[in-house]
Amino acid sequence: MQEDLELDFETLAVHSGLERSQFGEHAHALYLTSSFVAENAAQAAARFCGQEPGYIYSRFTNPTVTAFQDRLAAMEGAEAAVATASGMSAILALCMGHLKAGDHIVASQSLFGATIMLCNNYLAKFGISTSYANAADPESWRQALRPETRLFFLETPSNPLTEIADIAAIADIAHAHGALLAVDNCFCTPALQQPLKWGADLVVHSATKFLDGQGRVLGGAVVGSKAMVEPVYLFLRTAGPTLSAFNAWVLVKGLETLRLRVEAQSATALRLAQWLESHPQVARVYHPGLPSHPQHALAQRQQSAGGAIVSFEVKGGREAAWRVIDSTRVLSITANLGDVRTTITHPASTTHGRISPEARQAAGITEGLIRLSVGLESCQDIQDDLQRGLG
Ligand SMILES: *Cc1c(COP(=O)(O)O)cnc(C)c1O
Repeated sequence: MQEDLELDFETLAVHSGLERSQFGEHAHALYLTSSFVAENAAQAAARFCGQEPGYIYSRFTNPTVTAFQDRLAAMEGAEAAVATASGMSAILALCMGHLKAGDHIVASQSLFGATIMLCNNYLAKFGISTSYANAADPESWRQALRPETRLFFLETPSNPLTEIADIAAIADIAHAHGALLAVDNCFCTPALQQPLKWGADLVVHSATKFLDGQGRVLGGAVVGSKAMVEPVYLFLRTAGPTLSAFNAWVLVKGLETLRLRVEAQSATALRLAQWLESHPQVARVYHPGLPSHPQHALAQRQQSAGGAIVSFEVKGGREAAWRVIDSTRVLSITANLGDVRTTITHPASTTHGRISPEARQAAGITEGLIRLSVGLESCQDIQDDLQRGLG
């Protein structure tokens, strides 16, 4: 890589993070090794105490993992990234690296379910409390502040209703209080949204979703300035939920096609959203690319496209929603998302099934709601598959 050149996103996606070995391989080599040997005792000592760069042990760093980290950092416009075994271990490591007992988190209400459980069931046991704010209303973040608030954490767009958080406005509130803002950028990926540009301090990823995008491996990452990433790295190398070299090798290839995939998936999602919006059996459609979306203008400013997630509410409640799901013959019935194959989910009975019916209703997750994560099939085939159960 020519470090002195200012390269565009597309070029970084295929050229960054590639340090060739003495063999001059064109694509990334896969370094399946648990540890590394030193030339002599002095070098081993210098590497262990950090005086000299170099690989020691793959719980700390591995060349294939470094390649993924460097490429993802370049694509997020960041100084540094550290890879993790999954998206959840990225969020755990971020909290372990940056928080201590007595600290307080403000998080968006519509977080990924396991993130809420991590905050409420585990961080709480160690004296870190969490309160929840409305992602779409920056003022509610200000109201949730406490003297001990140290971290704001949000997802935008939200799952499954695609609410948009104004990253710059919420970052300003965090910073005025001396808190950090972390954004889970899983839904947009850096191909559509770069939260650091809008003032976020840290970005987390479930690489399992669009970054791989082909349903093969689990992975995660925390991205930011060197100073922000360092404490997260130190936790990871001590506690161990690091990314395997094999998964890093798969993910580094996933990044090469990320923009092409996500832009195509996003364009199909918008076409489907427009079709659904005019469908007589559909009561409501949620996609940031629709002019009817309440935060369409903000989404257009903050994201380069609406994203691959479309949710819609069919008339007739759970029965009608399940009929649509059960009538599909191409789509995959699974709660996963971010795949090249379109997935269809009934949030009220799966991803959001543990929430009380009242809380679900209040959050807008109705019994008729269906979430699609649009893949790379033809728009017509997806439309035909949905029409089978909507007819
Ligand atoms: C899936 C997901 C996670 C967790 O990622 P894993 O790789 O499954 O651990 C976190 N945040 C969001 C928004 C997700 O969709």
